[in-house]
Amino acid sequence: MASSPAAAGLPGPTSRGLALVRVSLEPGGVGLVPHRPRAPRPDEVELKVTLCGLSGADVVVYHADPAFDWVRSGTVLGHEAVGVVSAVGLLVPEWPAPGTRVVPVSMVSCGDCEECLADRPQQCARPSILGLNRDGTAARTALVPWQNLLAVPDGLPDTTAVLAEPTSVAWRAAATVGQIRPGDRVAVSTTRAVGLLAALIARSLGADVVMVGRPGPHHQQRQELAASLGLESTTEPEPESVDVWIEASGSGKQLAAAVEVLRPGGRLVLVAMYATGARQTVNTLVGKELTVLTSYASTRSDYDDALAFLSTMPDLGERLITVYPMGQAVEALRLTAEGAPADHGRPLVKAVLRLNG
Ligand SMILES: [Zn+2]
Repeated sequence: MASSPAAAGLPGPTSRGLALVRVSLEPGGVGLVPHRPRAPRPDEVELKVTLCGLSGADVVVYHADPAFDWVRSGTVLGHEAVGVVSAVGLLVPEWPAPGTRVVPVSMVSCGDCEECLADRPQQCARPSILGLNRDGTAARTALVPWQNLLAVPDGLPDTTAVLAEPTSVAWRAAATVGQIRPGDRVAVSTTRAVGLLAALIARSLGADVVMVGRPGPHHQQRQELAASLGLESTTEPEPESVDVWIEASGSGKQLAAAVEVLRPGGRLVLVAMYATGARQTVNTLVGKELTVLTSYASTRSDYDDALAFLSTMPDLGERLITVYPMGQAVEALRLTAEGAPADHGRPLVKAVLRLNG
């Protein structure tokens, strides 16, 4: 069985032997602490994590959102990862064998609640989510039930495979829930990772896509990035010019804009959570008989589609991710939480930690 340098007591700690951990329930209460991994349970594999992306779930812990008080101090953060199987529990079958390159599905569903039995694992009544309910992937090694792993296709570099989780969320919103068809006029709000990925997926499905952004800090850099991916942007779309709007920003203003700009009978796909309600927005939504679709997290099948989609754009990660060494993990999370630009004025779309390799 493989062991990590920390477990073997090798000299250190180097920053790579550290884990990004919730250290308190106060705002900013995250830190780097020595990682002390246990052995895999019978159904678990140990993953040698190559890259770990930081995301909204890590940000809510960083901000100490009271809705996430249940995330215990000491929990290793992170749930977007690519890595290599380094050890397996006693009951793990032939696949995945040590050496297999994999991505984990971030939600470990219970498998026997009503929702799981009805094939809605993303609605599991007793979910256990990497980096929230259980130790995540922002450490040199992570433990994941083998059933939660997917093989990374050959030819898909780690730098793009690490986008599997946000791509699965985007795929679920655009394709599984949004049912985007060729010729649909699609608007996507937000140029964060899920928004850009949803726009690229919508385009691959044959839609005419426009990114809708609000003028603000870093807006121009974000527009330039979208343009470099061949995506058009606008700040003021024509009223009633859109068939499908994918709202991924969580902004009440963008939600109101979506309801304004969708044509009567159009489809609104919400793939965000909202802090405040907006009565006028809801009334207009009713008045225009819009179809409201909601998309939450993703399933294993969305991950399969996401990996197939990413295989068509293997260099995408190079455009979207900013890689930080583990020693800068707290700083990378702070920049993610504050929406700050990465170095050289490049917009920070997805901060990724390098743990191994
Ligand atoms: Zn369940």
